Amino acid sequence: MKTPSHAIINLAILGKPQLPQFNLIIAIGGILPDIPIFLFYFWAKYIARLPEAKIWSEAYYEPLNQNIVALFHSIPLAAIGWLIAYYFGWQNLQILFLSIVLHSLGDLPVHNDDAHRHFFPFSNYRFISPISYWDRNHYGSIVSFVEMLLVLLSTYRVFGFVNSSIGKILLILVNCFYLIGAVSFYIRSLISSAVEPPR
Ligand SMILES: [Zn+2]
Repeated sequence: MKTPSHAIINLAILGKPQLPQFNLIIAIGGILPDIPIFLFYFWAKYIARLPEAKIWSEAYYEPLNQNIVALFHSIPLAAIGWLIAYYFGWQNLQILFLSIVLHSLGDLPVHNDDAHRHFFPFSNYRFISPISYWDRNHYGSIVSFVEMLLVLLSTYRVFGFVNSSIGKILLILVNCFYLIGAVSFYIRSLISSAVEPPR
């Protein structure tokens, strides 16, 4: 799933109107597993200055990058983290790790050949899903539409108990971006189907 979707959907699942103090930590847990991917992209594009095509087809698949991404998307490691936090009674950390687990559970069904190793370092198994959140060869346009609807529904649920105005603005912005993306995608496919001769 797209990174902002994780934060909003996790908030809808884990957040409670009577416990708004956990909102930020849930949002951070929703975003955290993807942070290494953003850092990698920043390094590849602006420091190593690799061409765009090489970034996602080669550099991203270097073992070191893959292991760091797998570490942050590991369900058992996050579960162990949760157990330790539970044992010591660290409530914030428990919620953080729960949100990290949810992130991985959200990614698991919607990654095809870019699937993460969600059981790393105990197993290198990758679940190659028949559907993808972005790849149009694997129902990407349908999946991203469903993702957009889920984010919209989640926003409806959490908007009332996200108290900060920055949080509310971000919720609106993410939904606007998704909507603009969907509309422009729809228009582009209409144009290309009108331009391409029927076969
Ligand atoms: Zn992810």
